[in-house]
Amino acid sequence: MSSFSISPGTTLGAVLKTPPIEPLEARILLGHALQLSRVQLITQSERSLTADEANVVSSLFQRRLNGEPIAYIVGEREFYGLPFYTTPDVLIPRPETELLVELTLERLPQGGRVLDMGTGSGAIAIAIAHARPDVSITALDASTAALQVAQRNATRHGARVSFVRSNWFESLPPERFDVIVSNPPYIVQNDPHLAQGDLRFEPADALTDHADGLSALRTIIRGAPDYLAPGAWLLMEHGYDQAPAVRDLLAKDGFHAVQSWQDLAGIERASGGHR
Ligand code: GLN
Repeated sequence: MSSFSISPGTTLGAVLKTPPIEPLEARILLGHALQLSRVQLITQSERSLTADEANVVSSLFQRRLNGEPIAYIVGEREFYGLPFYTTPDVLIPRPETELLVELTLERLPQGGRVLDMGTGSGAIAIAIAHARPDVSITALDASTAALQVAQRNATRHGARVSFVRSNWFESLPPERFDVIVSNPPYIVQNDPHLAQGDLRFEPADALTDHADGLSALRTIIRGAPDYLAPGAWLLMEHGYDQAPAVRDLLAKDGFHAVQSWQDLAGIERASGGHR
């Protein structure tokens, strides 16, 4: 399905004047196609597109019109101030998840050990490694394709992270960590949001547990004590309405100082406790 097309000879200014998509997204895609910065797009607004360029830009706009997320079209997304390669094999890093990075950094002792469960693009693990070269970080995922993206991101940022393919704790060798952090799939199966917007294009296994939304969180909470050092923290992201349930699970499994933290939108977005 292709219907949108820009004529060769159209100026950059004209393309951006009445784009078929959000103006900000049009600037991102045009800049991506022509390898031009935001400022260059303005200073070169009289420049006209060649036939090839018009084709490329038309097809990028058409992909966006078809609903494809910007992060997958341009192949990256910024998280915690760093650009991360982002493919349809991984969840698109979200700003609210930066909360987990901050909570982890606040609790990490010098030379500490971190485990990131369900690392996806590697955003959480790599952001931590980048901020704290003294700590050692293990990041696991059940998806080989996701781990390949995460490894590329680690290389890109010179981050030392040990990647392990494991379905939660199943294949993880015994080791003790000072912080276990996770942004697991927590959307309830058949939640209508899964059929809307960017989520339609993201890996379902990264979004939903295909159950009540709490099953991955439960698995992590049950398994974590065997992998936590004395006093160590477990920190998890969860859905906007799951904080009470997650606190309850943590308290029942013997965690202390159980609490939740709000994201920038004021939503209880992460919960945790320590041993
Ligand atoms: N925060 C994501 C969303 O609601 C879901 C990510 C996840 O399941 N971990 O779109």
